[in-house]
This record gives sequence, structure tokens and C-alpha cells, in this order.
Amino acid sequence: LRIKPLTADDLVNLPSRFQRNVLSTTEFAPNQVIVHGEKKQTWTFDKVFGPESSQKDVYDQAIKNMVDKFLEGFNVTILAYGQTSSGKTYTMGTSNEYSQLPETKGIIPRSMATLFSYVNSTQYKSRKFVIKVSFVEIYNEDLIDLLAEGDYESRPLVTIREDSKGNMIWSGLQEIKVNSIEEVMRHLMRGSMGRQVGATEMNSQSSRSHAIFSVTLSQQKLVTDFRSRKNDDEGDWVTVTSKFHFVDLAGSERLKRTSATGDRVKEGISINSGLLALGNVISALGDPAKAKNTMHIPYRDSKLTRLLQDSLGGNAKTLMIACVSPVEYNINETISTLKYANRARNIKNSAIVNQEETGWQDIEYLQTLVLKLRAEIKALKNSDALNS
Ligand code: ADP
Ligand code: MG
Repeated sequence: LRIKPLTADDLVNLPSRFQRNVLSTTEFAPNQVIVHGEKKQTWTFDKVFGPESSQKDVYDQAIKNMVDKFLEGFNVTILAYGQTSSGKTYTMGTSNEYSQLPETKGIIPRSMATLFSYVNSTQYKSRKFVIKVSFVEIYNEDLIDLLAEGDYESRPLVTIREDSKGNMIWSGLQEIKVNSIEEVMRHLMRGSMGRQVGATEMNSQSSRSHAIFSVTLSQQKLVTDFRSRKNDDEGDWVTVTSKFHFVDLAGSERLKRTSATGDRVKEGISINSGLLALGNVISALGDPAKAKNTMHIPYRDSKLTRLLQDSLGGNAKTLMIACVSPVEYNINETISTLKYANRARNIKNSAIVNQEETGWQDIEYLQTLVLKLRAEIKALKNSDALNS
């Protein structure tokens, strides 16, 4: 849980009689937040970041270990949830605005710095790395490739399908190879400029869509198996591929608060349908009886849950950061965010390292390998026969 501080904008935009702070944290119970509403409520999370905590605190204490997992080969997903203006984009670092100063840099640029220092370290000099990025927006249940060239309308639509192993494949999406943190940031900024933004009463720059920035890391490393090899200095190349999804969700507020009209209403409803489906998936996964049977998990109810199927109760390390505002004006939305996040805590994922021998999909390679192994077996049998 991250509580944002009262900002200068809040002082101007919120009615002054509702600017009172209604959330408190204590040093003695660092994982708790107390809501001072009509009645006092205490909520517990895995970690609570108060309004004074910095971007670096959040990264060091909650994110860095997930980046380490990603480098080990696990799939990782981080979702920012909360009402408009609660600090999702600031925390994630999805927008240019927050990436200029070192102190205000969010999770994405910090994670990318860690990633490139790993890739460029002498410790992993013998490995071969390929890093690709993609950036997709879900707007009114359409998937839009934010890194595609050309104007918004002419871009190919992205579709989702499942491969034979049950992995979700996002097809039609550009995956761009990158070699440095500067390149990653350039694509991130280019994509975030293209995001649909609509003015509502709650936040003039509010993004009415979900945005998923993804990084795919494949690492080829040489492994030598000392048990089966006597004189070999060569080994097998294995490829470990892992994906990192950074999800900046649309505002979770209920529509009536934003006094939306026309197109805004349609957006509001479909944004809520994605978050509603996410909420239903979260509830189903949190219920042990249902979670065992994936047939009962309503992933198919929205594009968002379908895209994130692997990350929700599947093969990924997943973290949800619930963002809340501390002021009385937003107390109802804050409580609904706390409830939502609390349900998400019940989910149990089981993540495994995505390792596979190089060439495993390559028939020609496999055929050559079979021939080579047959010849080796034959030679071994012959030498056995000679020895006995
Ligand atoms: P959201 O993406 O949830 O709509 P933003 O991340 O755009 O919200 O944040 C709304 C405003 O609050 C922005 O002006 C942002 O700079 C400011 N803000 C959010 N979180 C913090 C924080 N932890 N510290 C300082 N300013 C913040
Ligand atoms: Mg935002």
C-alpha cells in the first residue's frame, strides 16, 4: 500500500473542509494503516509506505527483490491500482513527467537501471542477452500497440491467444529489441505520449485506460553437467526467458464521482468492466475451492484479465501496489481500494524459472541431435562389447 502526500494540486482542487488527513501509520506496526472514518478501521498489508516515503524507498524495499527474481528467470508482474490521482503513474514511472529528476524516477526506470547493470556486469560476461520491450494499452476493450508507428487509427489491432502449453501469446504486438536504458526510456516515453488521456473533473491529465509496459529478457548460458561428461569443456546452451509486466491500471473510481458524460461514460463503464473482471478473478483465486480449478476463474471476461492470465494465479511473481490518497474527500474510494487490495493478498501463485534447452523448438536441430546421440550409443555399445 502506498499513501501519497497531500500535493499542491490537492490544496487547490479539493474542497478545503475535506482536506483533513484520515490515514495514519505507526512505527510500531509498519505493515498497518489506520483509517479514521466514521469508525476507526485497521488494515494490514505486506508493506505500507506512508506519505513521506520516497521513490527510492519503494524501489529498494518492495521492487528490487522482484527484479532479482526476473533476472533469475521468473516472470514478474507489478500492478498499480487505485483511483485517479492516487499516484499510480508516479509510482510506476510510466510518464515522462516523473522521469526527469533522479529522486522522482519511478519503478520502471529504476528496474531498467538494475537490469542493464546486470547485463553489463563482468560476472555475466559469458552470457548472451536479448532484451525486448513492448507497450500495449487497453482502451474500451481494444488493444492498442503504443510502440507501433503511424497514426492511432491505422495501427494493427493486437490479439490474444493461447499456445499449446497454455501460455498467453499477445500477437500483432511490436516487440522492440533494446540495447541500453536510454533506448528503453525512449520507447517508454514515446508510447506514454500516445496514451489516451481524457479530462475528467477528478484529474485533468487522467488516463482512462490500462497501460502494460513489458520487458522480455532472454539469457543464453552455457551449462556443463559434470556427472555425464568426462573430458568435455563444452556444455549445453540453455535459454532462460522471463517477462516483466508493469501495469498502470485505469482509475478505479466509480463513475458517478467523475460526473462523466458522452464518450467519457462509455469509457468509464468499460474501464470498470476490466477492473471488475480483475476483481472477480482476484476473488475467485483467493477462494481455495475455486482456485484449484482454473475453469472457474473468469479470465475471459475482459481483455485485461486475459492478457494477465499468466500473472494472476499462474506462473509469475505478482505484486499489486494499491495507491491511495490520505484525505477525507477520497475516503470512500480509499476504503474500496483497501478492500480490493486485501482480497488480492489471498492469491497464491506458483512461479517457476522458464528454462529450456536451446533449439528445443527447432526440428532440424533436434533431428541432428538424435542422429548424433544414436551414433554415440552405437559407439558405446561397441566398446562395451569389446571390453566384455
Ligand atoms: P494516477 O496515475 O493514479 O492518476 P498520478 O501518479 O498522476 O496519479 O499522481 C497524481 C499527482 O500526484 C501527480 O501530480 C503526482 O506528481 C502527484 N503524486 C503522486 N504520488 C506522489 C508522491 N508519492 N509524492 C509526491 N507527489 C505525488
Ligand atoms: Mg495515471
